[in-house]
Amino acid sequence: MDKRTLLAVDDAEINRKILSKLFSNDFDVLEACDGKEALDVINEHDGNIDIIVLDIIMPEYDGFYFLEKIKETEFASIPVVIATTDNSPEAENRLLDLGATDLIYKPFNPQNAVKKVNAILARYEAENQRIKSTASSLEDRHSIVMRQTNTFSAEYNFLTGKTFIDPEYSNYVHRDFCNIDIFDPTTMIGLIYRPDLDAVISFLNLGDIHETIQKYINIRILTDNNIYEWFRLALTIHIENGIKTRAILTFNNINNEMEAIKKLEIFSSIDRLTKIPNRNTFVEKTQTIIEANPETKFAIVRFDIESFKIINQLFGTSEGDSILKFIAVKLQEIIEPIKNGTYCRITSDLFAFSIPYESEELLNSIIDTLVAAVKMYPLNFDITLSFGIYIAENSEYSVRHMLDRAGVAQKATKNNYKSHVSYFDEALREQEEIEITIVSEMKRALENGEFKIYLQPKVDMRTGEIIGSEALVRWVHPEKGLISPRSFIPIFENNGFITELDYYIFATVSKQLDKWRSEGIPILPVSVNVSRADLYDPNLFPNIVKIVDTYNIPHEFIEFELTESSFISDNHKLVELTYNLQKGGFHVLMDDFGSGYSSLNSLKDIKVDVLKIDINFLPTSTSDERAGKILTSVVSMANALDLKVVVEGVETRDQADFLISIGAYEAQGYYFFRPMPVEEYEVALKKQLEAKK
Ligand code: C2E
Ligand code: CA
Ligand code: CA
Repeated sequence: MDKRTLLAVDDAEINRKILSKLFSNDFDVLEACDGKEALDVINEHDGNIDIIVLDIIMPEYDGFYFLEKIKETEFASIPVVIATTDNSPEAENRLLDLGATDLIYKPFNPQNAVKKVNAILARYEAENQRIKSTASSLEDRHSIVMRQTNTFSAEYNFLTGKTFIDPEYSNYVHRDFCNIDIFDPTTMIGLIYRPDLDAVISFLNLGDIHETIQKYINIRILTDNNIYEWFRLALTIHIENGIKTRAILTFNNINNEMEAIKKLEIFSSIDRLTKIPNRNTFVEKTQTIIEANPETKFAIVRFDIESFKIINQLFGTSEGDSILKFIAVKLQEIIEPIKNGTYCRITSDLFAFSIPYESEELLNSIIDTLVAAVKMYPLNFDITLSFGIYIAENSEYSVRHMLDRAGVAQKATKNNYKSHVSYFDEALREQEEIEITIVSEMKRALENGEFKIYLQPKVDMRTGEIIGSEALVRWVHPEKGLISPRSFIPIFENNGFITELDYYIFATVSKQLDKWRSEGIPILPVSVNVSRADLYDPNLFPNIVKIVDTYNIPHEFIEFELTESSFISDNHKLVELTYNLQKGGFHVLMDDFGSGYSSLNSLKDIKVDVLKIDINFLPTSTSDERAGKILTSVVSMANALDLKVVVEGVETRDQADFLISIGAYEAQGYYFFRPMPVEEYEVALKKQLEAKK
């Protein structure tokens, strides 16, 4: 048998000579002095290299460069063993993430190194063999039809817990796709088009099923050209004897189909499903009518079905479709007779209409008629519509913009249990303006250092002594002044900017602690808030460590306040983060305990160090007997579990006295201190030091 070929990449000639000598018995050894030359050598040999031993630190074209570059070539599958001196788990993980097959450590122990490289190669080849053989049996099962229909499949076996992805997948989607765990949405970030992610998560949520089912969804997935293309996913769950056995997902590239449909829809004026006008027709027609009637007010109304997703899940999508058609018919019956009335289906369960606006009563009666008509649909489920209304007084804005504003009003109904109709009013207009400012200025504001931390002391109520603080962000806007986090954090959580901001806050707090330490001020722990949205960053924990370690702050001085998520699917991320933080020597607080999201139940999975109870989440004041009882039992339970308790929101002496009487001594609240600029906090700290002397 021919000798196999090994490529040794190292900038130090002496190391290359060592490697050559070590491996020359088993391999033909090729050499390269950096990442770039290595790529050239591979090309010259047309990829006929069995294994690469790669040094990481080389001038200019280093090992990282090489790993990045080779991924983009057809030779990405050649196993790469990294020769490194850094045996930290972080370095190891990073390298493996970059595509390294395994690592060997320098200085080499000659026999070990050779043995290890041979073992790596053998394992690698065996693995490949296995993939090939499973591939052929899969071929039998799913037949070549799949290839011809742009389809590949993945199979999850509930009994073995193993996932198998048809190796052909790489012809259709990005090669990282094989790392997807269909039950862990975080592994899909980047691979699935972000706006489609939530739909995928609920699609894959299997819940309670008792018979074999199949369902479909259309989503965008990253392909090897680094663009997102449309795929139809079909999920079949097999149930045998009442238990789930296999889940089969087929992925069918339907990009061409979708493009064609899109073109068709643009050219056509009719909504395909309901056969009433589509959005474009509506916008055009309404625009013309409004412009032709400058003296008339118009009501632009948008509505959708609340919990339409649930209806689809409960009754199936064909029932869902039939409801949509029914609504379209009713909408047409009601609006068509009105002069200058227009209507359409925008998309999925979203409809719109526009009519001349005479009075609120008249509009309400039209809405009531529609609601009553829809109630006639025979279904064992209350079909509730929610409406957002924009009243156009002139044609200053485009109909598209009016529709957007009706949409904003519509969103406002979602927080309102009493009414399903809301108008775009002055308050929403202001909100819109604030949001526009916030989103358009956030990046600049971060760069300009407009985000500042305020510190709110935590005290031991028995002595009144400061024992630490919480960092709360403030936006100090050059024109608008102090902006509360309550107005911008929810927006940042939606658009993802929160993670960048939170890292900035972590760094600012670390830096501040470092400064105090260098000035000889004794430091106390500072807690920072972690947004639920941060959990989507797969590098959250390593990044935290990196930031804190940059300033050499002992980990017990930075504490993390987490809130339990309303999404069960995030919870294991929370458990994992808590575990990592604590293992790393950080303390973890469960924020807003008792707010509904976080509950006693979650304590069995998430082992935090401190419960933060917000007194305002309790029924009323502490004079309320019930609230007192709840607090008392939570505190005694926490004591029994060896959990510390911090009560926040303490505003009165009475509350403080009561808390002390039930054994809760640590508090944070306006009664003691409000959140304050860092300088003020420093003054308070110094005062405390003086008093102690
Ligand atoms: P939170 O983490 O529950 O913070 C406590 C909030 O309660 C703070 O509001 C604080 O000013 C307020 N508070 C403190 N004592 C009292 C009191 O006695 N009575 C009353 N009524 N309120 C009190 P703030 O600073 O407006 O922050 C609001 C929320 O914004 C925070 O709630 C937190 O969820 C979020 N937030 C603030 N800073 C950050 C940050 O840097 N990152 C992230 N992700 N979220 C942050
Ligand atoms: Ca907090
Ligand atoms: Ca809180």
